[in-house]
Amino acid sequence: MKRIFNRRTSGLVFKLVRMFIICLVSLFCLLFCSKPSDRQKDASTYAIVIHGGAGVRYREEMTSELEKEYLVELEKSLMAGYEILAGGGNSVAAVEAAIRVMEDSPLFNAGKGASFTRDGINELDASIMNGNTLRAGGVGAVRSVKNPISLARLVMEESPHVLLVGQGALAFAKEMNAEIMPDEYFFTERQWNSLQRRLKEDIPYGGMLPPEKNDSVTSGKSYGNEDLYETVGAVALDKDGNLAAGTSTGGRVKKRPGRVGDSPIIGASTYANNKTCAVSTTGLGEKHMVLLTGKEISSLLDHKGLQLKDAVHDVILKQLVSIGGEGGAISIDKQGNIAWAFTGNGMYRGFVKPDGKFVIKIYED
Ligand code: ASP
Repeated sequence: MKRIFNRRTSGLVFKLVRMFIICLVSLFCLLFCSKPSDRQKDASTYAIVIHGGAGVRYREEMTSELEKEYLVELEKSLMAGYEILAGGGNSVAAVEAAIRVMEDSPLFNAGKGASFTRDGINELDASIMNGNTLRAGGVGAVRSVKNPISLARLVMEESPHVLLVGQGALAFAKEMNAEIMPDEYFFTERQWNSLQRRLKEDIPYGGMLPPEKNDSVTSGKSYGNEDLYETVGAVALDKDGNLAAGTSTGGRVKKRPGRVGDSPIIGASTYANNKTCAVSTTGLGEKHMVLLTGKEISSLLDHKGLQLKDAVHDVILKQLVSIGGEGGAISIDKQGNIAWAFTGNGMYRGFVKPDGKFVIKIYED
């Protein structure tokens, strides 16, 4: 009887010890063996980074009032994205919201403040990409659409296509009930004067020299100032560990009607992939388009195991410059690391992390 009791007791003890060990191992696995993306979810790491172009005014021409106006708009844009992320919204929505703020401002070369073609019209480019699904949407040389970034999102989510241009993009916008504005809405004196100056002085298109002299195209500083860049973009990581990127622009002043730059081209400017990072560029589109800047940064992470900062610096400061390009890029990776680089005297830019503290900069660090 005693022996039976002892056997039963030791059996029970054995089962208890076994259960205890199983629990311990499960707990250990939960804590240390989960994938980085799962850990990210637990840690609620999220962030948004924005840019308003890499061709900033020279310091001596930036009045304190104007600087304040830029800072206010950049903060509004960051906060629009941050509120979505903090509330558990997704990175695509955050990127769209942040870019819409800058598109609605006359300060940036996108949406309302878009530059003019040589014929005095506004043709807009934009794109957005979801790093989780690898779906993307873009619009090129589209007129009259108040928020091209939202139209790009509609292309991504409501059409089977990636890129719609010109009249076709406008027809799609109308079909989707996107907001359409009259030509006057897009008129800003600054952009108009910039075009007139370019037309009168016969300055080469967008600062580009004829092909045979292309080698000497180096930095934005050589082209004067006001009408440089100011394309806008955003990249974000949400609480679920999903990345997204977006870019919007009026393109280069005095461009030929129908010219499409890098901003709506997935991989050239906008690129997002949960495996690697999210990128948005600004600068001479014709150079980003042959370098495939966004995809190149992602590939350096993917295939060469580079850290985000090293990849961004390599592509912008070495590769882009080596082909006569100029401009900049912002990026964020799946761990929430942030990196940016630019070739000129500054880039309107900023980021905000979960604590709500934001960083905004215009000139060099
Ligand atoms: N990348 C834009 C374009 O070439 C210009 C810019 O960034 O300002 O259209």
